Amino acid sequence: MNEHSLSLRLERVAAHIPAAARLADIGSDHGYLPVALMRRGAIEAAVAGEVALTPFHSAERTVRENGFEQRIRVRLASGLAAIDAQDGITAISICGMGGETIRDILEHGKARLSGAERLILQPNGGEQPLRQWLMDNGYRILSEELLRENRFYYEIIVAERAEAVRYSPEELYFGPLQMQARSPEFLDKWRRMLRQKHKTLNSFAQARQAVPEAKVEEITQQAQWITALLA
Ligand code: SAM
Repeated sequence: MNEHSLSLRLERVAAHIPAAARLADIGSDHGYLPVALMRRGAIEAAVAGEVALTPFHSAERTVRENGFEQRIRVRLASGLAAIDAQDGITAISICGMGGETIRDILEHGKARLSGAERLILQPNGGEQPLRQWLMDNGYRILSEELLRENRFYYEIIVAERAEAVRYSPEELYFGPLQMQARSPEFLDKWRRMLRQKHKTLNSFAQARQAVPEAKVEEITQQAQWITALLA
């Protein structure tokens, strides 16, 4: 993967970024996503935010080698501290991190969100707490995608601020739109997850030390939801 050829995962993220967006790519690593989009003429401007020095330098290099220094700002900052109102950001991508980390970035950076930006989020696990944050903060999920690449499942969640929406606990767990669409990948993922949940519950039953009751209840509840979903 590089700025000429994105991974399938980032290619699908790219597909959800509106044309002519002013994009903030938070946790940009090499900066491949904003640079690839700029090379295609798909975005107007971008900020590539990075908290760590090595990926920050790497993003700077990708931007420089492609001659985009005037249109893509690379900033060393944690989360949404990379952007301010003058950037006029219209879309924010946060990809390739745990859902809890993405949620924390959004929560800590709330004051920097105008509410008009589209969020394009690609969590690696932890989708449920991320959806919970979106619902609690007045976001509606516009689109969800599940894809499989190199044996891993990846979810993409696209959200915008809208009128209050309530998702059920099951919708927060599975994804409200994915639950409706029931794609083959989605069903395959949850068949695998159900096998894992049963293994976990078996290991709890055989554990020498008592597993906290709340943990057992949580996994039991999830296994019941998945069983009902697949029935
Ligand atoms: N977004 C790219 C992708 O999806 O391929 C890179 C993903 S990489 C696994 C995660 C990147 O997020 C790392 O480069 C890490 O330094 C950066 N990161 C983690 N927490 C961050 C934060 N709070 N603010 C900015 N960057 C962060």
